[in-house]
Amino acid sequence: MSEGLLIIISGPSGAGKGTVCKELLSMNLPDLELSVSATTRKPRTGELEGISYFFKEKEEFVQMINQNEFIEYAQVYDNFYGTPRSYVQNKLDSGKDVILEIDIQGAMQVKKNNPEGVFVFIMPPSFEELKHRIISRGTDSHKDILKRLHEAYREVLLSRNYDYIVTNDDVKTAADKVRSIITAEKCKLQRTKIDYESYKED
Ligand code: 5GP
Repeated sequence: MSEGLLIIISGPSGAGKGTVCKELLSMNLPDLELSVSATTRKPRTGELEGISYFFKEKEEFVQMINQNEFIEYAQVYDNFYGTPRSYVQNKLDSGKDVILEIDIQGAMQVKKNNPEGVFVFIMPPSFEELKHRIISRGTDSHKDILKRLHEAYREVLLSRNYDYIVTNDDVKTAADKVRSIITAEKCKLQRTKIDYESYKED
């Protein structure tokens, strides 16, 4: 069985990467799964342990860092977030394609260690729209909103390090584009294991 594809989806907060991922998963692509991250952030209303995140105390998270249990981790605003190594590796080994929906610092760490990953940047259609989305989400404090908007420009510039840019002006269209990227990546010569000998006439 061949190893699944590691797909990294990131972008500035408010670009809509979470919504695009949800839409993509609703397309029921065979073998596509979303990784579940660990975080020290407190659960928001409706979030579930082991589904939205693995919610951790800071001490527990630091212990996981020291035991090298993360593929990457980052401090995003005031909280820590990390991708559990064994959780993702087990899925890839069993042939699943795994999406990491993570922030840009984390994506850049993954790129160093897993250059074979597929790096997709979700771009907000405009700064105005980004601002509107962050404010209307209603989950962030005024202080957090200002921090996020301030970071957005620096983050948009980092899109240069990605393989693909998908502008999210319409969620369905954006998710469709990511689906096409996944399909194309799975057909890439370097990823296919063709048994050329079997095509030879005896
Ligand atoms: P939120 O608190 O809104 O769920 O997420 C805040 C930010 O953390 C988002 O940009 C999200 O993509 C990012 N994030 C979620 N999980 C991870 C992770 O495992 N690693 C990193 N580096 N960022 C993450």
